[in-house]
Amino acid sequence: SPGSEFHNADDTDFSLPANREWASEIVRQWKDKSIEPIPICVGQQQILEPLTGEGHDPSKPDAIVYRYAEATAAHVENALNVAVEAQKNWEAQGLAHRSHILRQVAVEVAKGRAESIGSMLFEAGKAIQESDVEVSEAIDFANYYAGSLEAEGWFDGTQAKAIGVVVVTPPWNFPFAIPCGGVLAALMAGNSVILKPAGESVLTAWTMVNQLWRAGVPKDVLQFIPMEDGPVGKKLLSDPRVAAVVLTGSIQTAKLFQSWRPDLNLLAETSGKNCLVISSSADLDLAIKDLVKGAFGHAGQKCSASSLALVDDEVYDSPKFRQQLVDAASSLKVGVPWNAASIVTPVIREPGPELAKGLTELDAGEEWLLEPKIVDGNPCLWSPGIRIGVQPGSWYHRTECFGPVLGLIRVTTVEEAIEIQNSSEFGLTGGIHSLDPKEIDLWREKVEVGNAYINRPTTGAIVQRQPFGGWKNSCIGPGSKAGGPNYVSLFCEWTETESPQ
Ligand code: GLU
Repeated sequence: SPGSEFHNADDTDFSLPANREWASEIVRQWKDKSIEPIPICVGQQQILEPLTGEGHDPSKPDAIVYRYAEATAAHVENALNVAVEAQKNWEAQGLAHRSHILRQVAVEVAKGRAESIGSMLFEAGKAIQESDVEVSEAIDFANYYAGSLEAEGWFDGTQAKAIGVVVVTPPWNFPFAIPCGGVLAALMAGNSVILKPAGESVLTAWTMVNQLWRAGVPKDVLQFIPMEDGPVGKKLLSDPRVAAVVLTGSIQTAKLFQSWRPDLNLLAETSGKNCLVISSSADLDLAIKDLVKGAFGHAGQKCSASSLALVDDEVYDSPKFRQQLVDAASSLKVGVPWNAASIVTPVIREPGPELAKGLTELDAGEEWLLEPKIVDGNPCLWSPGIRIGVQPGSWYHRTECFGPVLGLIRVTTVEEAIEIQNSSEFGLTGGIHSLDPKEIDLWREKVEVGNAYINRPTTGAIVQRQPFGGWKNSCIGPGSKAGGPNYVSLFCEWTETESPQ
């Protein structure tokens, strides 16, 4: 009901045999599944021409596993016209109606957990457990945004108005939760949405959109328009009828969008180069556990990944620490998600120049503590790599590689660690492992990141508890955070009104 208290959805407990059996059933159903071609959806129309898009499974990257239609400029023009019209009615239906629909979305997304996980295994190479938490996060977005305008005392009409048509351009690394969150925030504020799914994860976005439609989101209010990133994308994003664009992607993509349309209202969560500080006072068992999780979860393909550890010299030089870290990283099962035990799964495609360099080339002063290797002959599947001797300001320090590679920098004080961390152009997440309250306070006060985590991994932000978004080049736009208060209000225009008593 409106205003009801918010609770985070539970993840599946895979320690229970029944849930492990459920997971095996998902694998049985989805492995080698044949997938119907996926259409472009303009209003009520589903269009299967031109069927030029190709879906891949990083577990067997050479095969085309499904096809999807890609919009032309004419489809985009029609979708914009539909979106402008549909938005008026959606807004007029009022806040309570939209809250109700979002709560229904939470129910449908929960019901669809198995199919959503299946599609993530199928095309994103995402391990079962990592896929499962995305579904929980999407449920959280729905329930949280459903109540968020009410919680802030916003009302329909004169106070809060929709901004119009919002385009959502999500990434492939969180192929379910991130598109779902962006779409729902915009819808909650009374906008219509055009979703342009990431080309690598069209099937998962399609699965999500169908769940939203089933929950009662009208098809003309949420249109599904896969397209190439080139001229058609440019036409959409530079159209003045588009009131805002939500992007999760690289800073380069954000800048490209801005070059297409300088006055673009862009809400972008962009790149990160995140550090976990390990102080001499840290509980090293926990620090290593969290570092390995933050660095190698989803094969390091998270904006929030800890791709650097800034390690106190005493710890850094200790053979015991090094051995324990190597043991922890090399004990992670590397394999395709079709094996439920796999933890480090394939990267989305054969590594491009930056990731290839991160996985194979060392700079002056660097050495492999653990050298990454291709596994099972799959060019997308790499075992974790750890480079030591990374120098502040070096290529690896500056570059987001987006893959299963971690670098260690030796530091002598927490002050030095903070300086190195803050010298980055990015400021998304950061962490410290320390049991010294003074160090923690100092770090917390000085660190320039959006999500500063103490004695926990740098990944896995939880809706409401850890609203997600960064500083500096990790963010473009007003900088409010997904899954936090004020996020939905970014999609509104608002007015203070006063009438005589
Ligand atoms: N919200 C995710 C996390 O906290 C990261 C999102 C991203 O990689 O874009 O790990």
